[in-house]
Amino acid sequence: MEKETDKLQKIIDEHDNIVFFGGAGVSTESGIPDFRSQDGLYHQKYDFPPETILSHTFFMQRPEEFYKFYKDKMLCDTAKPNAAHQKLAELERAGKLKAVITQNIDNLHQMAGSKQVYELHGSVYRNYCMKCGKFHDFSFMKHAEGVPRCECGGIVKPDVVLYEEGLDSDTINGAVRAIAKAQVLIIGGTSLAVYPAASLIDYFQGEYLVVINKSPTPRDRYAHLLIQEPIGHVFSAIHV
Ligand SMILES: [Zn+2]
Repeated sequence: MEKETDKLQKIIDEHDNIVFFGGAGVSTESGIPDFRSQDGLYHQKYDFPPETILSHTFFMQRPEEFYKFYKDKMLCDTAKPNAAHQKLAELERAGKLKAVITQNIDNLHQMAGSKQVYELHGSVYRNYCMKCGKFHDFSFMKHAEGVPRCECGGIVKPDVVLYEEGLDSDTINGAVRAIAKAQVLIIGGTSLAVYPAASLIDYFQGEYLVVINKSPTPRDRYAHLLIQEPIGHVFSAIHV
């Protein structure tokens, strides 16, 4: 571990065009459950599996049940950024990190101070009326009874990419550009199981690919540096 962290420190010290690509593992250390882990949402008891509830079809057909699950399981406002979020924000302020690309929807990178964040799967902090387009904040959703409705009567939908829905093209394009230009790509806290998000890293053509994940990923064999440790632990050892 010590040696791997030293290697990561050296790579960070020697480069100033670093991009971070992260997944659920970055948030689990802040107390947000990983959908795909053994104790995550996907193994909890509900009338329907979470993949079904969090689909566009289900949202349209059973909004009451969708929002029951959504408010119960997705609207977590007690989580705090951990060492990984904080160090990434510091690296950006120091001019070394150019972008964070995340599959998480919890706003923790922004809470830590990161500015250039590409949220591939959207954010629970943005919500829009499906009728008039008005913005509604996190607190509005948290306190809404049943299906959240705008003053105009329209349903307020979270700006979160549901199953069956496509990713936002501006977000994808920004993420691809950042990855394609990066010297160093650090992939962290993701098993790279979710497509098309995971396929974005194919655009990397820089010098160092770093993979930090507790369990194996399909990209491990391409990594110049592989660290199989909790990501918050790894970043807490890094000096900016
Ligand atoms: Zn409205």
